[in-house]
Amino acid sequence: MSVTNSAALFRSIRLSKIRAAMAEHHVEALLLSLGADLPWTIGYEAMPLERLTMLVLPLDDEPTLVIPRLEAPRVNHWPELFALRPWNETDDPLDITAALIGSRTRLAVSDRCWATFLVGLQARLPSAKWQNASTVTAPLRAVKDAAEIEALMVAGAAADRVAAQLHGGEIALVGRTEAQVSADISARLIAEGHDKVNFAIVAAGENAASPHHHAGARVIRADEVVLCDFGGTLNGYCSDITRCVHTGEPTSEFAELYDVLMASQAAGVAAGTVGTPCESVDAASRRVIEDAGMGQYFIHRTGHGIGMEEHEDPYMVSGNRLPLAAGHVYSVEPGIYVAGRWGARLEDIVVATEDGPIALNHADHRLIVVDA
Ligand code: ZN
Ligand code: ZN
Ligand code: ZN
Repeated sequence: MSVTNSAALFRSIRLSKIRAAMAEHHVEALLLSLGADLPWTIGYEAMPLERLTMLVLPLDDEPTLVIPRLEAPRVNHWPELFALRPWNETDDPLDITAALIGSRTRLAVSDRCWATFLVGLQARLPSAKWQNASTVTAPLRAVKDAAEIEALMVAGAAADRVAAQLHGGEIALVGRTEAQVSADISARLIAEGHDKVNFAIVAAGENAASPHHHAGARVIRADEVVLCDFGGTLNGYCSDITRCVHTGEPTSEFAELYDVLMASQAAGVAAGTVGTPCESVDAASRRVIEDAGMGQYFIHRTGHGIGMEEHEDPYMVSGNRLPLAAGHVYSVEPGIYVAGRWGARLEDIVVATEDGPIALNHADHRLIVVDA
């Protein structure tokens, strides 16, 4: 295989890693459609449409990208890495895909591939044994290379700048609805360099007790917590940060709760040394909250991997004994949620390195009282 430029070299390294993992898992053909596996592999993201885009990657042959002819011009095509098989509007792309798969039966397909495509392929390939492509791709994608860590750092810094604006009182809160503040934060994520916004949770007062609260018509008042959890994609990689502010001095009860949360989050970050099981990061954060007698209010796992997707492997959750490896990037985001009253969460993205965990977010971790 002759490789003509460094981007293609990069992709050829990923392709050879994929082939090694396919061999290990006895996968004869990997089928990549919607989702992040395809852009991670060849730099092209399938459009989420009824027209099929599918990379057929046989273990024993060169990959072929089956793609609608009208979308083929968008592909940055490296012929030395994969072939293009554009299909016309009157062709059947599932027949074309099935022909490329041939007699191979051990198949792995993108976790995000639409059921309509998979069901169609199952009808054409009745003897195939199917598994999720993530069996092959997730462990590879979880370990970021230097360029990916740099991209996550840049995205994290952009999110930090929006958090600083929140802390600095530049984002008006009292008297506005959660939805208005969410739109404001979204615009600022774009202004700070994100290509798109993935979410901007704004939860005031009692709504902060719902971890994935949808910002709505609730008007933000004085003297309450405002939980903001937001992130976007910048150059293909995601940001994700949570900070809480208080519109006026918090009660001592809430300030104490927040102190526990800060200690819990710091303990989770510090636990992330290479070789430590992922579940120990969760345990380190959880123990602090449990020791404070608030264990029943921490109702979710401590964190998730992040990369081209907001949530991907590895997960910081009890039962995940996977040892942290240098290059794993994940969130540490404990929360304390008291239904009907209030809640708080504190989240940073962290990269595991041989020299210990390094946080990619640096915005102030304290509960900042804002006059906004
Ligand atoms: Zn979440
Ligand atoms: Zn988040
Ligand atoms: Zn998160």
